[in-house]
Amino acid sequence: MEAVECAHWLQEEDICHVLARKETPSKEEILEILAKARELQGLSLQEVAALSAVTDPALLHDMFATARAIKDEIYGRRLVLFAPLYMSNYCQNECLYCAFRKSNRELKRHALSQEEIADNVRILIRQGHKRLLLVAGESYPHGDFNYILDAIDTVYATREGASEIRRVNANIAPLSVEQFKSLKARGIGTYQLFQETYHRPTYARVHVRGAKANFDWRATALDRAMQAGIDDVGMGVLFGLYDWRFEILALLQHITHLEQRFGVGSHTISVPRIEPASGSEMSSNPPHMVDDLDFRKIVAILRMAVPYTGIIMSTRETKEMRRETLELGVSQISAGSRTDPGGYQSDGEFEASQFQLGDHRPLAEVIEDISQLGYIPSFCTGCYRLGRTGKDFMDMAKPGLIKEKCGPNALSTFKEYLRDYASPELAAIGTSAIDKELAAMLPKTRALAERMLEKVDSGKSDVYC
Ligand code: SAM
Ligand code: SF4
Repeated sequence: MEAVECAHWLQEEDICHVLARKETPSKEEILEILAKARELQGLSLQEVAALSAVTDPALLHDMFATARAIKDEIYGRRLVLFAPLYMSNYCQNECLYCAFRKSNRELKRHALSQEEIADNVRILIRQGHKRLLLVAGESYPHGDFNYILDAIDTVYATREGASEIRRVNANIAPLSVEQFKSLKARGIGTYQLFQETYHRPTYARVHVRGAKANFDWRATALDRAMQAGIDDVGMGVLFGLYDWRFEILALLQHITHLEQRFGVGSHTISVPRIEPASGSEMSSNPPHMVDDLDFRKIVAILRMAVPYTGIIMSTRETKEMRRETLELGVSQISAGSRTDPGGYQSDGEFEASQFQLGDHRPLAEVIEDISQLGYIPSFCTGCYRLGRTGKDFMDMAKPGLIKEKCGPNALSTFKEYLRDYASPELAAIGTSAIDKELAAMLPKTRALAERMLEKVDSGKSDVYC
């Protein structure tokens, strides 16, 4: 392992100082912060701490309305869809909340072979997926990291009819700069890594053995990814391990650090809450359980604090919770997921899963639901394919220009999905959602979208701008 940098940007004292404020923020103060949030310039640590202290129902209502308005302004109605692909549940670590941890004898272990990876990918392509997130425990067959590189090649090389996966993201253990370079060379999209908790004492308590026990190796992993040229990185906190107010302030310190060092912060933030996992007492009774109201507050505050960063919600959440939280700022969701290696090939056997899912619906059902709620499901991979990543992406997003691309790309990829995979009923629902969206677009964007939709109608696939 190369020398471990210290995560010097994490200033626990500053966070504790901000959180120690005694008086409840006044109504006027909160309204002023919300007005500032609407200017889409982000928020300071003090402002975020003040919002996290709000309990008054009328102010909460205003807070949620502000988050909704920001989400509409920047992301419109599109929602990007992806599926995780769990490659292996072998792991050398002892994370007390996770079923994959080394000492868990209840778990059936398996690492997918490259052939099995291809089989699972074909199943996901047949469902209509275009974006995959590769996930693995921290232990590769024969201790060989090439397993991950081969898996990326396998996914990109797999075809089902004329279709393919167009973007592979990864959520795997921290790597060295050299390893990140090889990941980048294989065409990885986003490298995603959750710090789990930014609170060092809690981190030490819940990660008792293995490489993951080293807080700083993990907290500086995204620096190494960026040094290696991976400019789309995703962060996350595993909510439930420690006080969420502390965690979101630390997360913002992390983002600010990357912005200062590399000119671009986090491409996405994931907001997993701990779910029950086999053989893990802690997962059924998390030390700092986040209830549904606080969870909605977290999403809304993050939407206001870092308006241009995507927020990802997984199928850990129930369909009801996902519906409520989508409008507050979530821009990407997983759908039809399994968290056991090979899960897409089997029915009902979950003894190899990482944790329990809250939303078990297949992709088509999720699509029907979100289309009826007024969203446009998007399978867009345009930015990645055109090299619009990292700072280039943010430079377009900040002046509001990215919406002109995302809107038409969402429609063309949704139309392609409806053409290739939907039942006649779902196609009718989706077509009406597309028509509504077209009617709400500015004339120039609409003209572009219509030209792209015509191409899809004439049989063309992978139409993007
Ligand atoms: N093994 C790698 C690591 O830990 O970074 C990457 C894959 S790990 C399977 C992905 C994420 O799953 C972890 O970062 C953690 O946040 C999440 N996770 C683990 N146990 C969980 C649980 N019981 N409920 C919800 N999420 C969990
Ligand atoms: Fe292993 Fe990751 Fe699970 Fe920890 S969270 S036990 S590192 S798979």
